[in-house]
Amino acid sequence: MEAAARHALNFIDTLNETPVAATVDHSLLRQRLGRALADDGVPAEQVIEELVADVDGGIIGSAGGRFFAWVMGGALPSAIAADWLTAAWDQNAAMCSSGPAAAVVEEVAGEWLKQILGLPRRSSFAFVTGCQMAHATCLAAARHFLLARRDWNVEEQGMSGAPAIRILSGDQRHASIDRAVRLLGFGTESIERLPTDSDGRLPADVLAAALEKNSSAPAIVLLQAGEINIGAYDSFTTLIPIARRHQAWVHVDGAFGLWAAASPRFRHCVEGIELADSWATDGHKWLNVPFDSGYAFIAHPEAHRASMSIRAAYLKHDPTVRDQIDWNPDWSRRARGFSTYAALRELGRSGVAALIDRCSDHAREIVAGIGRLPGAEVLWEPVINQGLVRFLDRAGRDHDRRTDEVIAAIVNTGEAFFGGTTWRGMRAMRVSVCNWRTSEEDVRRTIDAVSKASSL
Ligand SMILES: *Cc1c(COP(=O)(O)O)cnc(C)c1O
Repeated sequence: MEAAARHALNFIDTLNETPVAATVDHSLLRQRLGRALADDGVPAEQVIEELVADVDGGIIGSAGGRFFAWVMGGALPSAIAADWLTAAWDQNAAMCSSGPAAAVVEEVAGEWLKQILGLPRRSSFAFVTGCQMAHATCLAAARHFLLARRDWNVEEQGMSGAPAIRILSGDQRHASIDRAVRLLGFGTESIERLPTDSDGRLPADVLAAALEKNSSAPAIVLLQAGEINIGAYDSFTTLIPIARRHQAWVHVDGAFGLWAAASPRFRHCVEGIELADSWATDGHKWLNVPFDSGYAFIAHPEAHRASMSIRAAYLKHDPTVRDQIDWNPDWSRRARGFSTYAALRELGRSGVAALIDRCSDHAREIVAGIGRLPGAEVLWEPVINQGLVRFLDRAGRDHDRRTDEVIAAIVNTGEAFFGGTTWRGMRAMRVSVCNWRTSEEDVRRTIDAVSKASSL
C-alpha cells in the first residue's frame, strides 16, 4: 500500500510533464497485462509494482489540467484521499448497521448537496455510480408515482398491461436517458422526440402542443441543465409550469450543468429548477470527486422509497437512521459518500462557486484563443464550461475532415486532449473544462499546442 501511495503521488506530481494522451497501443497493453491466469499467487507488492509498470503509457492524463474531451472532472486531493480510505475501511454501505459512519456521511453530504444545488429541502436522494444510474433511479420513482395515481402498483404488477407513460424530450438529450428508459421497461419508442431551437432548448409552444395531443396520459417531461455539446439550459420557469398543468413528472438531466446553481454568477441558468420532480447529476464531473459518483434527487420521497426499498430476513434495519438500500438500486455497495463529503468540505460553498467560475472562464479563454488562430472558427462561445470550435479546410472542401485531422494532431502532441462531435451537421471540436487543476498556464500551453497542430 505504501508503494501504491508512492506511485499515485508520483503520477499526480508529474501530470504536467507527461503526455496527456496514451503513448502505447492496446496490443502492447494486452501483451503486457494478458498473462495466463496463474495457479499460484504472487506477493502483493509485486502485483502492484508490475501493475504500475504494465499500464505505463496506457493511462490517459484526464486527471491533469489539459484534458478537455467528453465531460470529465479531475479529483480533488481530499476526495482522492477519502477514496483511498473508503477502500481501506471497506464498509458495505448498504445499511446503517453495516457501516454507521458511511450511512451518516451520506445523510450529511446529501443535505449539503441539496443546499448547494438549490434543491427542495425535503427531497430524497441517492448516491449512485453516475448520472446514468441517477436517471434510472429518478425515472423508477417517476414510474411508481405516475402509475400509483392510476391504481397500478408497478413494483408488483410490472409494466406489462400498465397504463402507457408518455416520455417527452428534446432531441438533444444525452443517450444515458435512453438507456435508463430501456432498463425500466418503457422502451425507447415511448420517447417522443421534440425539436429544440437553434440554441438547443425546448420551445414552450412545442412542449405545450405535444402535451395537449394526449393530455390524459401519464407523462414524464425530460429537461436539460447543461446539454453535452454547448451546455444549453432549458427554460425551467416556462416549461415546468406547462408540464405541471398536465400533471407530468419533470426530470432534469443536470450531469454537470446543475452545478451552475452553486455559483452566484451562473445561478440564473437554472432559475426555476427547484420546481422539477427529480434531478440527476454527477460528483465525478464538476465537483471533482473520483469516479464512480453520481447523485439522484427526488421531490417525492415516498415514491422514491417505494420504487427502491427492499427487505430481507437477514437485514437489520433501524427506523431512526437512513439505510441507503431504501434509496438506491444497489445492494452491497461502496461507501462513496466519503469522497463527496471530503470534496465539499475542502471547497466549501465559495470554493465550489470559484471552481465553476474558473472552469467557465478557462473554457471561454481557450475557445477565444483558438478562435484567433488562422483557419479556426468558433462555433459556440461557452456560456458555462462547454464550447465548440472547428478547423477550416484551406481548399474550402472538407471542413469536417480537416477538423477531425486537427483534433487527432493535437491529441498526438500529448500537450492537450480534445474530442470531436457532430453539431448542427458539422464536425466540431469540443472544449469542456471541468478540472480544478486547469490553470492559466494550462490554457496558454493548450492554445499553443492547438496553434502548432493546426498550422501543419
Ligand atoms: C456525462 C453525462 C451523462 C451520463 O453521466 P455518467 O456519469 O457518465 O453516467 C448524462 N447526461 C449528461 C448531460 C452528461 O454530460
